[in-house]
Amino acid sequence: VIVALAGGTGAAKLLRGLARVTEPARLFIVGNTGDDLHWWGLHVSPDLDSVTYALAGLLDEKRGWGVRDDTFHCLEAMRRVGRETWFRLGDRDLATHLHRTLLLRAGGSLTEATGAIAQALGVRARLVPMSDDPVRTELRTTGGWLSLEEFFVRERCAPDVLEVVYRGAEAARPAPGVVDAIRTAEAVVVCCSNPVTSIGPILAVPGILEALARTPAPAVAVSPIVGGQAVSGPAGKLLAARGLDVSPLGVARAYRPWLDTLVMDGLDAAQAAALERDGVRSVVADALMPDGAAEARLARVVLEAAGATA
Ligand code: GDP
Repeated sequence: VIVALAGGTGAAKLLRGLARVTEPARLFIVGNTGDDLHWWGLHVSPDLDSVTYALAGLLDEKRGWGVRDDTFHCLEAMRRVGRETWFRLGDRDLATHLHRTLLLRAGGSLTEATGAIAQALGVRARLVPMSDDPVRTELRTTGGWLSLEEFFVRERCAPDVLEVVYRGAEAARPAPGVVDAIRTAEAVVVCCSNPVTSIGPILAVPGILEALARTPAPAVAVSPIVGGQAVSGPAGKLLAARGLDVSPLGVARAYRPWLDTLVMDGLDAAQAAALERDGVRSVVADALMPDGAAEARLARVVLEAAGATA
């Protein structure tokens, strides 16, 4: 199997490419749950859902989250009764959260619920949460402590970030199958996700980092930073808050010492020597994925860099 560590929107594009250029059943995707939240009484897993919807061909491309052509009648009705509506859930999207919450309430694990949702939507890749235990990314900002979604959606990433913690991580166990999958993988792919708030929480689950350090499988990451800034979102701000360079070099350092290869854009080709000094091989490719063809092209580069056949 090819193990992929994944956040939400950036990961979704690369994973869709991988599912197109190789047999989807070969993919074992470990998804971030650090930005899961309880909203209107429901368990919402934004990153798992973005990946599921993308692989099911349902993702709304313009927003980057939720279901394409969704309506927001429930949201409007919730607004009318005075509920908070800064976190937006579409009507079809709601069915996913209702289904997940009912499965969890009936005693199922998040791994089981995630698998059931993916299967029902026709996803052939295996998608599991990093852990069945709650781990919550929290940011200490100039506006106080915020959950990831409060920072990202409600505050639109405006406050300065002073510290990032993964609440609950020390006590969390990797989801069933994760450590074994990493140990026996033919390759590990770190998607072009936010290193601090999408991949960081996965690495914070005890046992995962150790498995990555020990596995003989090559580890290949795709840089979410292109030309000195994030393609989208606050990755630049968060890398800087961690004291890391906003560059492929900073990304590689977030994955030290287990990362073997970093795929980065041509705009950053000058960093190759510095990466080499850090013990990381670099592969230069067009790292932007504006459409399906670009997703497939980059996915092929990643497989090749990992020595895996398409
Ligand atoms: P989130 O949970 O929705 O923030 O999802 P991710 O962490 O998976 O995705 C956000 C990251 O994806 C950002 O840091 C972006 O810079 C990166 N990203 C988005 N689109 C692209 C792309 O086309 N190419 C690359 N290399 N990175 C991208």
